[in-house]
Amino acid sequence: MIKQCALDDFRSKLRGDILLPQDADYDATRRIFNAMIDRRPALIARCASAADVVACIGFKRAEALEISVRGGGHNVSGKAVCDGGLMIDLSRMKGCRVDPLRRRVRAEAGLTLADLDRDCQAFGLATPTGIVSPTGIAGLTLGGGIGWLGGKHGLSCDNLESVDIVTADGRLLVAAPTEHPDLFWAVRGGGANLGVVTSFEYRLHEVGPVVGGGIAWPLARAKHVLPFYDEFARACPDELSLNAGFFTAEDGTKVVGVKVAWIGPLDVGERLLKPLRSLDSPVADGIAPMGFVDLQRGGDGAFPRGRRHYWKASFLRRLEQGAIDVLVEFTATCPSPYTQVGLQQMHGQAARVSPTETAFAHRHDQWDCLILTQWDDSADDERNIRWTRELHAALRPWVEDAVYVNNLGDDEADRVRSAYGANFDRLVAVKAKYDPDNFFRGNQNVAEHRI
Ligand SMILES: Cc1cc2nc3c(=O)[nH]c(=O)nc-3n(C[C@H](O)[C@H](O)[C@H](O)COP(=O)(O)OP(=O)(O)OC[C@H]3O[C@@H](n4cnc5c(N)ncnc54)[C@H](O)[C@@H]3O)c2cc1C
Repeated sequence: MIKQCALDDFRSKLRGDILLPQDADYDATRRIFNAMIDRRPALIARCASAADVVACIGFKRAEALEISVRGGGHNVSGKAVCDGGLMIDLSRMKGCRVDPLRRRVRAEAGLTLADLDRDCQAFGLATPTGIVSPTGIAGLTLGGGIGWLGGKHGLSCDNLESVDIVTADGRLLVAAPTEHPDLFWAVRGGGANLGVVTSFEYRLHEVGPVVGGGIAWPLARAKHVLPFYDEFARACPDELSLNAGFFTAEDGTKVVGVKVAWIGPLDVGERLLKPLRSLDSPVADGIAPMGFVDLQRGGDGAFPRGRRHYWKASFLRRLEQGAIDVLVEFTATCPSPYTQVGLQQMHGQAARVSPTETAFAHRHDQWDCLILTQWDDSADDERNIRWTRELHAALRPWVEDAVYVNNLGDDEADRVRSAYGANFDRLVAVKAKYDPDNFFRGNQNVAEHRI
């Protein structure tokens, strides 16, 4: 029970507002992307500034509450919301200041990828993010950030110049190469464990227009298309990034598709993509020149808010025939037409950074192999979850003991070590320095799972 006077005092310290269960916006604000998550915080602080976040830390300490931190609320694990505690909601902190001359942007933690792209593209600029535009920049960047610009410009976290972060003792610190460099190392991949990041400063690059879009073949052609795709992707320059996927087309047939993004002169990209586009007889080919913002929105339609999600993922170094056979077999029996299995490419600059340069450890030319299971009805939970687990288990002979932290589910605490590999112990040490009591535990927690 929180006393009314404590609540009044807390409210008076905030520029933003507080929502209690009886308030009109409470339900809409506690709900996140994944409809499987139905948690009820005791209160939600809708922060307007870093000072509000500092006030939240003080309130949490005084009241001994659990806390959770919400950026875009897109993570499938649902760590952005807690039951019975304080939810620190940053989603209204949407300040964004682009400096076109210095090619830098200072972006507050409530921005989505769509918000950031829109503001930066007004100046013909962009920084690497992900491929579904309502995703929050905060969670995405703090875990790594794999997207269409990764081959040419690296991960989102590789493009950070600095962050403003409120730590467990309630201080607002700048983490940068020359200020708290250990913290700056750790937030680039392990960020959710260390504090509340209130803003990010990214480097920007000239981007657009691009060649983007997708091409698809009948599922039966996957055993022919994917070995070609694996070789083609391996040989492609940094400017080209590719994602393959298994999904159900609008007419209900199962297909294998490849999405592309060429970040360079349009005529060169069109020429380079010809061998892929002339492979077999595609059932659809929507590859074309487009604006960067349209490329970034290209994946949105397949991931509407409010569906139920259960995901499993691992990195895959090569697409061997055995793995392709498993993917084809399981796609044929997939219980939901909304589910996709993706092979998101990580290569070029993103793979070239040393594995120890940031907390994000998985620096290889590889595929992020994602089983993105989604459905509508809770009555279908059991069979969708079972199918996902069975596919993940069947892929085990071909995948690495390595996973991207942002793809971990709520039931995968035992895989947190695999998310950081050789960087795990160093990350735990930085966590112990800046958050010795594990104050920030509503995340894929490295302190609880160090055994
Ligand atoms: C449809 C979809 C597509 C995706 N595509 C990609 C992709 O292309 N590339 C990619 O790399 N990832 C992708 N992801 C994964 C994505 O990176 C994660 O879900 C990410 O955590 C989302 O960030 P968020 O701010 O929306 O998340 P939230 O759910 O708000 O937060 C995720 C975690 O970060 C913590 N956190 C959030 N904000 C802060 C903050 N400011 N300070 C400290 N901790 C914070 C939260 O407490 C939580 O533990 C995708 C996810 C979805 C659902």
